[in-house]
Amino acid sequence: MGSHFHYQRNQLYCEETPLEAVARQVGTPCYVYSRSAIIENFHSFRTTFIEVDPLICYSVKANSNLAVLQILNQEGSGFDVVSAGELYRLEKIGVDPRKVIFSGVGKTVGELEAALEIGIGIINVESLEELELLTHVAVRKRIKPHISFRINPDVDALTHPYIATGLRQHKFGINLEELEDIIRALQSRPQLELTGLSCHIGSQILDVQPFLDAFLKLRELADALRRRGFAMVHLDLGGGIGIPYRSETPPRLTTYAEFLKENQNGYQIIFEPGRFIVGNAGVLLNQVLYNKVSQAKRFIVVDGAMNDLLRPSLYQSYHEILPVKKSEKEGIQADVVGPICESGDFFAKDRVLPQLQAGEYLAVMNAGAYGFVLSSNYNSRPRVAEILVHGSQIHVIRSREGFEDLIRGESLLP
Ligand SMILES: *Cc1c(COP(=O)(O)O)cnc(C)c1O
Repeated sequence: MGSHFHYQRNQLYCEETPLEAVARQVGTPCYVYSRSAIIENFHSFRTTFIEVDPLICYSVKANSNLAVLQILNQEGSGFDVVSAGELYRLEKIGVDPRKVIFSGVGKTVGELEAALEIGIGIINVESLEELELLTHVAVRKRIKPHISFRINPDVDALTHPYIATGLRQHKFGINLEELEDIIRALQSRPQLELTGLSCHIGSQILDVQPFLDAFLKLRELADALRRRGFAMVHLDLGGGIGIPYRSETPPRLTTYAEFLKENQNGYQIIFEPGRFIVGNAGVLLNQVLYNKVSQAKRFIVVDGAMNDLLRPSLYQSYHEILPVKKSEKEGIQADVVGPICESGDFFAKDRVLPQLQAGEYLAVMNAGAYGFVLSSNYNSRPRVAEILVHGSQIHVIRSREGFEDLIRGESLLP
């Protein structure tokens, strides 16, 4: 439990706000974020790497709410986007486009055009085909973008297979043996300016060694390109830093920072942290609907579901679950499940929790990253509200959808 969520007189608080009060005021389910936690995580990252003096580009896809982006923009963060939609969000809050990096394996013509029009900082190119397409767009727009090649360094991130991205069999990045071809292709394309290399080897990585290995591979390649006359300026090491959901030990970032400092060779380091900045800054608040007890099993049925928070269903990921009102009652084992017609709709399996009455509230912890952004309207459930807590104030930063939102854009046949 991050220090911004804590019990006080047996009530679970976010900063100085009791979560029960939030639930009563805005209803459940809802996401609740701590403003201080976001800011503190950002500064802790910056402080850890202060000697490296990196450009920190928050990965928008982890939590793309405008207010969250606004906070990070105010703190001086840059941004990493993976779609024109994310770019649109940044435009809405007036982000300096030079601090924005565009990543992603499937950028469309429209997205590349949008990126060039806005004056994006760097485009991370992932394939020869993308290089060709970008060349056409750059010629047409008469803009000379800075690009970096996203390398697949073939490093095992030792994380869940769905969120590992740095092995040669993954769809991401340019494999080492293909790099030479793409460099040659670049040499006949003066419309693009190669200024660095990038990688992103996966997410929720708990061991620091894969990061060091990936960095060394990137630097070796960049050094070689420097010798061939390319003005290599930056090395973008992506995100992927793991956080504790249960009792995991997070990677030793001071080791990472010291290693980079010693081996940086004058490169500007770029990071794209997502989960690290927002993961522990949010919870999903639920209300208990039923206690369903059979001879075989005990279920706590809550009003939140997999459409609101997909991570347990998608990645079998563990989230701590806390009663909003601390109870002295003895814990019993139960599955915490939602109302959706899927057996995969659960937040926890065989979890020991105090007995809770219908109407009481439960918080699914560490839901600030890849929570709301992965939510859907499955089962025609309106998407939930997002709340930002600032001390004892609460701000609704996304209102709960209504039924009319469910059918927006749909039409009947004539
Ligand atoms: C998702 C992603 C990130 C952020 O990953 P985290 O694990 O949330 O830090 C950074 N860079 C790229 C290219 C990504 O796709």
